[in-house]
Amino acid sequence: MAAKSKSTRLKVTFECTECKNRNYDSFKNKRNDPDRLELKKYCPVCKKHTVHKESK
Ligand SMILES: [Zn+2]
Repeated sequence: MAAKSKSTRLKVTFECTECKNRNYDSFKNKRNDPDRLELKKYCPVCKKHTVHKESK
């Protein structure tokens, strides 16, 4: 079993910048990624790849 982490892993939700639908949940490392992330991912609402931004 993994030891209890020191909570650098932060849960983030990614939302499509075009339709604002929240399509993806992920974890990021606070230390490696202190800023908001942007990922190009497939959006099932737009039916194409769009930029997904981290939302709180
Ligand atoms: Zn979309």
